[in-house]
Amino acid sequence: MRYVSTRGAAPELGFGDVLLAGLADDGGLYVPVEWPAIDTGPSDEYADVAASVLAPYVAPDLTEAELMQLCRDSYAGFRHPEVAPLVEIGDDQWLLELFHGPTLAFKDMALQLVGRMFDRLLERRDERITIVGATSGDTGSAAIEGVRGCERVQIVILYPEGRTSEVQRRQMTTVDAPNVHTLAVDGTFDDCQDLVKAMFADRRFRESQRLSAVNSINWARIIAQTAYHASAASRMGRPIDICVPTGNFGNVLAGWIARHTGAEIDRLLVATNSNDILTRFIRSRDMTTAGVVPTLSPSMDIQVSSNFERLLFEMNDRDGERTAADLAQFRSDGHLDTSPEAFDRWIRPVFDSSSVDDAETLAEIARVHRETGTLIDPHTATGTVVARRLAGNRPVVTLATAHPAKFPDAVRQATGVHPELPDELADLFDRPERITPVANDLAAVEALVAERCPI
Ligand SMILES: *Cc1c(COP(=O)(O)O)cnc(C)c1O
Repeated sequence: MRYVSTRGAAPELGFGDVLLAGLADDGGLYVPVEWPAIDTGPSDEYADVAASVLAPYVAPDLTEAELMQLCRDSYAGFRHPEVAPLVEIGDDQWLLELFHGPTLAFKDMALQLVGRMFDRLLERRDERITIVGATSGDTGSAAIEGVRGCERVQIVILYPEGRTSEVQRRQMTTVDAPNVHTLAVDGTFDDCQDLVKAMFADRRFRESQRLSAVNSINWARIIAQTAYHASAASRMGRPIDICVPTGNFGNVLAGWIARHTGAEIDRLLVATNSNDILTRFIRSRDMTTAGVVPTLSPSMDIQVSSNFERLLFEMNDRDGERTAADLAQFRSDGHLDTSPEAFDRWIRPVFDSSSVDDAETLAEIARVHRETGTLIDPHTATGTVVARRLAGNRPVVTLATAHPAKFPDAVRQATGVHPELPDELADLFDRPERITPVANDLAAVEALVAERCPI
């Protein structure tokens, strides 16, 4: 499989180079030269299904046997034997539970595998890297758990001191592994992100530390997520709609790819919170940015969904120059113009969307608990509201993106019940933390990274 950039001006690469490069040289995102037809394979084991779905994307850099082993290792530690179980919560309403991995959010489904892919490819090339990232919560711990124990990867996660939840902070600071480094920045999440961008922009530093990223545009993360969309459709055994609580559009894009490459998915229902740019786009072709407002579903508090670029490239008939021009326009005036023809062909038949505010989210957590006895987290709740609001005459599978115990305050506020952490994490509040405070200052952060991460 070869990959091209959505902006049309970067070299074609194979899977291994795409994984290690992250972003393309021209600022675009890599997509396959052509879409394969996927197959979920003969086995019911989740790891085997994932290996079958991913196989066309990773050849020849990983053999089928290697891929199978990596998938088995990745999902062996999940708390549920089915890895991603389907649970019925109402008439033709289902949850696909994606939170049984080590950090209680769906990001583990991809990052457990991506960390192992990095290690395997780096070993083959006899190279080492330093992954740096900023987190406001979920991504940092999932990335850390994905690469702890990797021989050839150092990871540095910057988080805003005092601005993550205590569960989220402890999931990062209690990891005792020599290649894991968390820095508590005296600043906001935006400051953390700016520091990471500045490290990447510092060419000497980037090259000497061999910097890399595992953010949500990472191609391997997207295809790993495609596997559970395809697996859910195949297990349901008839066409389904999938409802996705959405931030950066990664999880929706994965569903679109599963559908486009053969999975029996009819519609993709995009759930947003009050940060509803995607809902406005899908309902009225109007993609215009507005300020981000904080909500009870913080992982969806995003105004520019970076992975949308991959779908825009298809809407533009894979014209990279036009895609680059559209995005430059979007950056400069906050408005993205798409043609009515492309919208009617690519968006209208596939997507529908609705947004859910915090009051509706709390009412939904309470309703689901009252009617089914199940506790759901606030992100999942935006999904189940939209799944019922937009239901057609097919089953709807809502992606349950986080464990309720990851967002205990909202769940308690809605139901009066305190969601318990799973046994594996029950002693999280007793584990010693390793906290490294650092000033909001590029030189100070770079010095710490260089000292902690020998390459
Ligand atoms: C990251 C995240 C999302 C948003 O996923 P995207 O792929 O960015 O759209 C939704 N819910 C939870 C719990 C998350 O951690």
